[in-house]
Amino acid sequence: MRKLAINIVWIKRDLRTLDHESFHAAESKNIPYLPVYIFDNDLIDYPDTSDRHLGFIYNSLIDINKKLSSFNKEVEILYGPSLDIFKYLITQYKIENIFSYQESGIKESWQRDIKVRKFCNENSINWIEFQRDGIIRGIKDRKNWNKNWHIQMHSQIIENSFKKQKKLKFLNKFPLPKKLINRINSNLNSFQPGGESMAWKYLKSFCNKRISGYAYNISKPEKSRISCSRLSPYISWGNLNIKLVYHHLIKLKKKNKNLRSINAVISRLHWHCHFIQKFEVDCTYETDFINKGFNSLKRKNNIKYIKAWEEGKTGYPLVDASMRAVKNTGWINFRMRAMLVSFFVHNLDQDWRDGVYFLAKQFLDYEPGIHYTQFQMQAGTTGINTIRIYNPVKNSKDHDPEGVFIKKWIPELKNIPKEFIHEPWLISEMESKIYKFKVGKDYPSPIVNLKETSKHAKEKIWGHLKNKKVKDEKKRILNTHVNQK
Ligand SMILES: Cc1cc2nc3c(=O)[nH]c(=O)nc-3n(C[C@H](O)[C@H](O)[C@H](O)COP(=O)(O)OP(=O)(O)OC[C@H]3O[C@@H](n4cnc5c(N)ncnc54)[C@H](O)[C@@H]3O)c2cc1C
Repeated sequence: MRKLAINIVWIKRDLRTLDHESFHAAESKNIPYLPVYIFDNDLIDYPDTSDRHLGFIYNSLIDINKKLSSFNKEVEILYGPSLDIFKYLITQYKIENIFSYQESGIKESWQRDIKVRKFCNENSINWIEFQRDGIIRGIKDRKNWNKNWHIQMHSQIIENSFKKQKKLKFLNKFPLPKKLINRINSNLNSFQPGGESMAWKYLKSFCNKRISGYAYNISKPEKSRISCSRLSPYISWGNLNIKLVYHHLIKLKKKNKNLRSINAVISRLHWHCHFIQKFEVDCTYETDFINKGFNSLKRKNNIKYIKAWEEGKTGYPLVDASMRAVKNTGWINFRMRAMLVSFFVHNLDQDWRDGVYFLAKQFLDYEPGIHYTQFQMQAGTTGINTIRIYNPVKNSKDHDPEGVFIKKWIPELKNIPKEFIHEPWLISEMESKIYKFKVGKDYPSPIVNLKETSKHAKEKIWGHLKNKKVKDEKKRILNTHVNQK
């Protein structure tokens, strides 16, 4: 029997229906199409992935399907190795085209794509990959990158209009196991819910109200939870693309209010793509020092320190509260993320690679292109960025002066007066009795000495900057990853 000719829309980190080039391309053809999402088991077993990510993706798919079901274009949710799934699909249909976005992912997703590309070539399938958010594949430097990014951002939004098609008969031999669905849907309550509809709610509530506090509160761990956009998971998983947010903000600018904040968010949208572009060019950011001169930087692996950091039990309240907040809610502001990394590598003297996957799993907005590049930047191992060692006590006093955030996440400290909340180890024996609280018993004593470890870290990292190899690598990195104009 002749197989039905169809196209495939392969959804990856573009879990939306608006401004979606793959849907647009499929709609313009005169044969039916099948949208698919593949939970590739090789990728979901990788150490960067957690149930909170899978739950966000799953609920985004449910949301898309609410929109597409009336057109008989629901996304088929599949589970298994991508190649096996495509092999199965060609037993059912004659696939003419696969439409998808390019993915600037980790090495594993790149290798998956190489296999799928070979399979497409062997089976005369035309796989068209669209550019994502102004990120360009195969470039060697940043000449004209900014200009192209702006052209992309100012291009028209694609108003996808869906036409009804006859329901495709499809026997899903690779369904997502029920057990897995139940697992990923449990404990989702404390996270931002996934989906395009939710993304627009967040964007609108930010633009209509929350943005007024953006610039002022961005570094504050508690207030930033409201006044930052909180769009990151929606952008990272593609419920929104950068262009949609950009257009919305440009329109908002016309109202002539909150201009400082709007401009600050727009520049961060640009950073978002700038960091992903680095990763697109060099995905070894995930596993290797981007500046090879740092290969000789030795750290003292200490399992107890790593465990204390992961559990939020280092004895430094702001570090611990930040870790507990991100574990519980999937989000923390930029400064606290940077401080967590700085404390891990500089004060605890641990290799950044021993903490990088742990945080990837906690961040609901995990985006490889930003995560690994930012991690190395905060670890001070790029050789091109200013090295910052964040002092958790100073940051605590500056950004959580009343200890509101700390008390929220560290109930052990809730009865401590604010003069001790940043440094509970300063409480005297006598005061300990009054507050019925003892450092070392009710809350850990600091696991390292801040002053000594910071001094040692400065000598270590700045000492390294003088190495010839670090300097040579700096030139290479600047030439490749930075617009030097
Ligand atoms: C070690 C480390 C790891 C990080 N990992 C991620 C990650 O996996 N995914 C992720 O989206 N962000 C990551 N960030 C960047 C940043 O912390 C988050 O984007 C931001 O906190 C998200 O909150 P928001 O959406 O309210 O941001 P807003 O301040 O409202 O900014 C709007 C958008 O701009 C982008 N953005 C903001 N800050 C940055 C930045 N510094 N670099 C690049 N893009 C930015 C995000 O897409 C964000 O949603 C990381 C930062 C550090 C220090």
